[in-house]
Amino acid sequence: MEIYNFSAGPARLPKEVMAIAQEEFCNYQNSGSGIVELSHRGKFFAPVMERAQANIRELMNISDDYEVCFVQGGGNMQFAMIPMNLLNGGTADYIDTGVWSNKAAKEAKFFGTVNIAASSRETKYDHIPAQSEWNLTPNAAYMYITSNNTIAGSEYLPLPKAPEGVPLIADMSSDIMSRVVNVNDFGLIYAGIQKNLGPSGAAIVIIRKDLLERTPDNVPTILRYNTYTENDSMYNTPPSFTIYMLALVTDYLKKLGGIAEVEKMNIAKADKLYGFLDSTDFYSTPVAKQDRSRMNVVFRTPSDEMDAKFVKEATAQGLTDLKGHRLVGGCRASIYNAMPMEGVDALISFMKEFARVNG
Ligand SMILES: *Cc1c(COP(=O)(O)O)cnc(C)c1O
Repeated sequence: MEIYNFSAGPARLPKEVMAIAQEEFCNYQNSGSGIVELSHRGKFFAPVMERAQANIRELMNISDDYEVCFVQGGGNMQFAMIPMNLLNGGTADYIDTGVWSNKAAKEAKFFGTVNIAASSRETKYDHIPAQSEWNLTPNAAYMYITSNNTIAGSEYLPLPKAPEGVPLIADMSSDIMSRVVNVNDFGLIYAGIQKNLGPSGAAIVIIRKDLLERTPDNVPTILRYNTYTENDSMYNTPPSFTIYMLALVTDYLKKLGGIAEVEKMNIAKADKLYGFLDSTDFYSTPVAKQDRSRMNVVFRTPSDEMDAKFVKEATAQGLTDLKGHRLVGGCRASIYNAMPMEGVDALISFMKEFARVNG
């Protein structure tokens, strides 16, 4: 039976990539060792690091005004590193659209003033507040958004811009490289690798070079962005396997024709699944139509008991990890880049049958 894993992260990776990793696991390029056994300073790993960075630059069309680096500690570490390096007692605007932006704002309070410029918390994060209602600070140190809300199931479509002179910072952990983004609109973009691009172990950080100069002198070496940019992300031992997998996944995305092609597939998958949800009374989705995430489709059956039954029976059919996040309940289908249309089709067939029997 074909298994389709709808996990929100770590998540399914392209089968082709998993097969290459398996083949090379014990003997990387006839070195006699696996990549996890080889020194990060040796001749085998250096080209892997270079390729991962070059692929990201190419796929996202990143100019020389930006540095690309890899930082351990995942998304949560960036919640702290961003204000630690860039806030320095100033005021930052946070748009609170979900659990992750809320957590990020909490960390920023250790380093300055946080203005929650808009929030949809009161309505359980069921939409992205309209930009016309954002209460922005003049000359803020930066403006912070979560481009895709993995738990709530909402996404900025389109992405906002920050006021002139204010760096826009985006947590793109769950939609990086799923859609075309103009990097020049941002001061900093980061993303945990484990949602859309590889295994867990690090975040990609794309930072505009002028922002590197903002870091106060009292920030420890390992927490300074320039430590990563000046040492090719190898100040200390990097997560070499994660970066190797990232190189393979980004090779694969290039082979598919780049992000514009991938975005088309993602739109087709999401349209099909939401189209089905809208066509039934049995299932519902709480997210405002214009803000529905193309990556994480959040939905419910008529009751909590039925949700549990749905998840259990789906798992038995090879459709796994459909349980909603523990904070919100219900069901969630994460359909990142690596989920093929066949997986979405299989899910819809199951949902139809489940609704017929239980409706
Ligand atoms: C998963 C996730 C995080 C947290 O990532 P960790 O690597 O577990 O710290 C942060 N932001 C978003 C949008 C996420 O989806």
